[in-house]
Amino acid sequence: MRILIANDDGYLAPGLVALVQACRGLGDIDVVAPEQNASGTSNSLSLHRPLSVFEAPAGASQGFKVVNGTPSDCVHVALTGLMAQRPDLVLSGINNGQNMGDDTLYSGTVAAAMEGFLFGVPAIAFSLADKGWAHLEAAARGARRVVEAVLAAPGFGAAPFLLNVNFPNRPDADVLPWVTTRLGRRHASEPVVAQKSPRGETIYWIGPAGDAREAGAGTDFHAVAEGRVSITPLQVDLTDHASLGAWSARLGPAGR
Ligand code: MN
Repeated sequence: MRILIANDDGYLAPGLVALVQACRGLGDIDVVAPEQNASGTSNSLSLHRPLSVFEAPAGASQGFKVVNGTPSDCVHVALTGLMAQRPDLVLSGINNGQNMGDDTLYSGTVAAAMEGFLFGVPAIAFSLADKGWAHLEAAARGARRVVEAVLAAPGFGAAPFLLNVNFPNRPDADVLPWVTTRLGRRHASEPVVAQKSPRGETIYWIGPAGDAREAGAGTDFHAVAEGRVSITPLQVDLTDHASLGAWSARLGPAGR
């Protein structure tokens, strides 16, 4: 078993270190992570500059490979340039904060896993609800439980998949039951926050994400609020299949 681990909070992030340590013994582990916090960069690839890779010096991240790019860059470079053999599994996280509902579209944590999935490798993204990693060690033990269950489940290796896992931020996160969920939905983000820069220019901070709007039974929001580990299988196809026929009718025959 060969496992590639990445994240979006950067190679020094406690969530990455905890996930790597929790997965020790499951297989050969390679870690390739961004040099800086790249949260919210989604599936961005660096196409207009070259990327550098260095090995993290002594410390908790020692031996991790570090890329001066995005989470997707890390997995892309690992799969196509750094690793002699293709991994059997890509893991991402553990993220500092939840990635539920619409978060998954912006998340670099999900994107790192998705990059593996796009290359045909099974992948799992892990996030811990609430910022600050208060119960990170419990979540890391929980992540190992999930990985072990996924590896032991029938059909592993038959086809790639992409799982999005969110842990409640609780000291018992490692023993909470898990449940498969669908993504909920958020309200639109809060407005930008305008400020004056020291040079008198108006600058804008992106506002906080909106609260959950669709958080009913069966959603990831609901599961985590109820104290369960949420596991959402994701797909990449954004096609609105249900409206294909309606759009064909609205637009009529092929344009001239
Ligand atoms: Mn992050």
